[in-house]
Amino acid sequence: MVKRIAILGSTGSIGKNTLRVIDALNSSLVARRSSLEEGKTQYAIRDTQYEIVALTAHSSVELLAEQARRYRPKFVAITNADYFEQLRSAVGDLDVDVLAGPNSLIEIAQLEELDIVVTAIVGAAGLPAVLAAAEKGKTLAIANKEPLVIAGELLTRAARENGGTILPVDSEHSAIFQAMQSGSREEVSKIILTASGGPFRKATAAEIQNVTRQQALSHPVWDMGPKITVDSATMMNKALEVIEAHWLFDMPVERIEVLIHPESVVHSLVEFVDGSVIAQLGVPDMCLPIQYALTYPARVAGIGKHLRLEEIGKLTFEKPNLETFRALSLGFEVARTGGTAAVVFNASNEKAVQEFLAGRIKFVSIIKLVEDCLNKHNVKTSVSLEELLEADAWARREVEIEVHKSIRA
Ligand code: NAD
Ligand code: MG
Repeated sequence: MVKRIAILGSTGSIGKNTLRVIDALNSSLVARRSSLEEGKTQYAIRDTQYEIVALTAHSSVELLAEQARRYRPKFVAITNADYFEQLRSAVGDLDVDVLAGPNSLIEIAQLEELDIVVTAIVGAAGLPAVLAAAEKGKTLAIANKEPLVIAGELLTRAARENGGTILPVDSEHSAIFQAMQSGSREEVSKIILTASGGPFRKATAAEIQNVTRQQALSHPVWDMGPKITVDSATMMNKALEVIEAHWLFDMPVERIEVLIHPESVVHSLVEFVDGSVIAQLGVPDMCLPIQYALTYPARVAGIGKHLRLEEIGKLTFEKPNLETFRALSLGFEVARTGGTAAVVFNASNEKAVQEFLAGRIKFVSIIKLVEDCLNKHNVKTSVSLEELLEADAWARREVEIEVHKSIRA
């Protein structure tokens, strides 16, 4: 059997890990086949081959060209069209269609021949393609959480109505998805999302005032792209994940909790009505949830290390400090409010994180800007895609104006 894959955002942290997982799945296939031929292996194999049909990047031309040379996809796309000529000449000798601009993502997401669309783009920029794939009834392995946060209702409805499947890649949501298989939806009493707590877990609100870009980018457990790493430091990431879980699992916010778990071994938990709590544990490595989404419903041996609890010894849990991590309480409020609140929450954060990474604002200003933006916004409920995008653009502009004002002051 062949599974045909497109990776949107193949040059990022999740994209590169997805290619590593696919390499391993394809080569263990070869290994298992050959040992079968030699008569060494008795058990049946699942011989699924993973074929890369399309790869995309925003501006990393060199890496994208290198990936194209190695995986020989039919399509490559560069969303920043300024890099089109450079990409075209870099892959000129290959038999590949080169696309450019944001709409190329939609074209790729809807390709007839695809079995799985892996969405590994960062931010709301991934929304049109994710929505297009859901509308085509595709199987989505979704890492790109922001589209679910801002358009969860539209997206889950599009998948439901068109026979699409959304498989979570975010480690917490993959854990919940796996734990959910222990009972029926009606038997779930609550979801508990775990959080590492990031680099400032033990910091007080005062200590967090002067942290640097470097400190915010040093995550104690996970090696990820810059935006999600900053989000982990503010705990905005967990706030976004609460909203993501709300939509993915159709779970009221009142039944979603967050627990700090610095070892990041218990990836999340589901409590059932009888009081049983089912968790998924594993070494903290994104390859595991990526692989599960690709092989689902099967499980196969992969590149992930196996967990040795005796080496870890102790697993600890604590309540999050909502005073230091205001983002988390805002996230719960936003999830309860619904409508355009989540769009403004996400867009103002994306813009503020960009400003922080560019060195124009302080770390603590990120969530302050988000909160101010939410306070100014008139929430609209049950909105169209156009209204969502309008609110998104409004929030980004608001943050920009505020940052300009503060620089001039
Ligand atoms: P990254 O910054 O490492 O990579 C982002 C990818 O998206 C790159 O391929 C880049 O070329 C592309 N991209 C960037 N801007 C774009 C735009 N405007 N239009 C189209 N493509 C664009 O990010 P990442 O850490 O891999 O995260 C990707 C997504 O997965 C995020 O939504 C993140 O929250 C989620 N996620 C990541 C991890 C992780 O371990 N990195 C874990 C859980 C969830
Ligand atoms: Mg996560």
